[in-house]
Amino acid sequence: MDNKSFHFILVDDDPNLLEVETLLLEAEGQTVTSITSSIQALEVIRQQKPDCVILDVMMPGMDGFEMCRILRQDPTLKHLKIIFVSAKAFDYDRKRALSIGGDGFILKPINPESFAQEVLRILLDRMELTYWGVRGTLPMPGEKTLKYGGHTSCITIAFPKGDFFIFDAGSGIKALSSSLLSQKKGTIDAKIFISHPHWDHINALPFFVPLYLPGHEIEILGASHGTLSMRELISSQMEGVYFPIQIKEFAARVYFRDLKEETLEINGIHIKTLLLNHPGNCLGYRIEYQGRSICYVTDNELPLEDSPYYDPQNLNRLVEFVKGTDILITDTTYTDEEYPSKVLWGHSSVSQVVKLAHQAEVNSLHLFHHDPDQTDEDIDAKLERAQSLLKEMDSSVHCMAPKERQLFKV
Ligand SMILES: [Zn+2]
Ligand SMILES: [Zn+2]
Repeated sequence: MDNKSFHFILVDDDPNLLEVETLLLEAEGQTVTSITSSIQALEVIRQQKPDCVILDVMMPGMDGFEMCRILRQDPTLKHLKIIFVSAKAFDYDRKRALSIGGDGFILKPINPESFAQEVLRILLDRMELTYWGVRGTLPMPGEKTLKYGGHTSCITIAFPKGDFFIFDAGSGIKALSSSLLSQKKGTIDAKIFISHPHWDHINALPFFVPLYLPGHEIEILGASHGTLSMRELISSQMEGVYFPIQIKEFAARVYFRDLKEETLEINGIHIKTLLLNHPGNCLGYRIEYQGRSICYVTDNELPLEDSPYYDPQNLNRLVEFVKGTDILITDTTYTDEEYPSKVLWGHSSVSQVVKLAHQAEVNSLHLFHHDPDQTDEDIDAKLERAQSLLKEMDSSVHCMAPKERQLFKV
């Protein structure tokens, strides 16, 4: 856990809960003041100016929402974080808490094992990137893929206020589905961004169980293909002879949205898209939040400089798109030796990816979408090659090959 220390003021009319919350936060090295009266708490907050107030919603005298409203009008408290802890499990209350200026909403009964972690996650305000599948083309289970995992493309980015983005629905989304259901977090409100409709990016979507459960809300976004909308691209792979269940059997509220090259804004998160160099319409995504960013750019071919397919203008657009990003996740399907026999297959080789990352001055390069014939050792070798090329270029880019379930905070 991040061991930064903050000053908290806890306000709840339940002294037993205050005691538990205090112990949990103090165990993580945090400073805590607790108060049972909301009216009295207002004065103490104004005097002590803590980093964070943790508020109950339903309190006698002045409820948590009212108190939040008053605190948010005070210009001397503009850096104050406000987190609600409430037994009200309604989606309406969570959304209202955030819309009136709350920074987070934690459900009662609190989970002693995760409470302090959840609170600090909201305070540190980081994006959490998790890998669920790092391979391309075909899932490859077995002893030769134990280190990096055998699942095809799927990553998630979780945001402190609860927004949850999934990128691609390769076989990794099955592991994600099981993980989400085991956490019993209540309503799942997610957006699934699809890079393109090749099998390794959509074919496990029908195994994402929250789609079949009422109460959840899921939006599926991606590029249309000519007259084929995102809805049709997803539903046609589940039609008749290919799959026994159709999309009309989804019980969650499921929406589809066709994207082109554009910028979306969702709750203060900016999502930019760019068409990539790959057969059909394939979108790369740049996610920006609070001055930090992650780029998800797969599948994409970077032709060699002496190739007739090399297009400097196209490359420049990509360089601008990923410029200065904290993490560039990108298609590094082939070794430099493999690439010449795979020209126009729509994927990139190690040295081209390294040059892109260096030219765009990205902070961290994550090698992604590995060829199904490559073993863990082959991926190790690609990583070593990338790192030595970066060293030769005297580059400041940090390079790694993420593994399934690996988590990064940005
Ligand atoms: Zn692919
Ligand atoms: Zn593809």
